[in-house]
Amino acid sequence: MANVTCSAIVTAKRTVQNLRITLGAARKMAALRRPKLHASARVPRSQGAGTMSDPRIEPTMVKAPHGARTMEIEWADGHKSVLPHEILRGYCPCAVCQGHGGTIHFVPGGDLSLRDIQQVGNYALQFTWGDQHDTGIYSFRYLRSLCQCDACKPTFSPGSVP
Ligand SMILES: [Zn+2]
Ligand SMILES: [Zn+2]
Repeated sequence: MANVTCSAIVTAKRTVQNLRITLGAARKMAALRRPKLHASARVPRSQGAGTMSDPRIEPTMVKAPHGARTMEIEWADGHKSVLPHEILRGYCPCAVCQGHGGTIHFVPGGDLSLRDIQQVGNYALQFTWGDQHDTGIYSFRYLRSLCQCDACKPTFSPGSVP
């Protein structure tokens, strides 16, 4: 693990005035990111629309160092989620992976190298995997439910945040 050098963790501190700009910058950053570079993006806090008042599903930092097998998300309530790529890919919520209807289930296989992360609106992340699979839209609430940290793992229940 030689390449865990990247992520200087900076706590996201935003003023209300630059939220919009920050969101735009994050999008631009994601769009311009080259596949071989590590992906790390600060996620803007809630836009104040009242739709994301739950700090448990407000990410303040997403860390996905290139070559790592685990993504980390820090949330506004201070929780730090551990999200192995295997879990993220296996629980890809897209219709191709999950089919239609039924409960969410683990789908083994698929490329586990994370190539890109795009923020979708103010509510989700979209991942591009090594095999170009990119149809999964992971809402923040869903990502939180996939957390594999010591505290969350025992009650792992994909798709629900207690
Ligand atoms: Zn999928
Ligand atoms: Zn957790």
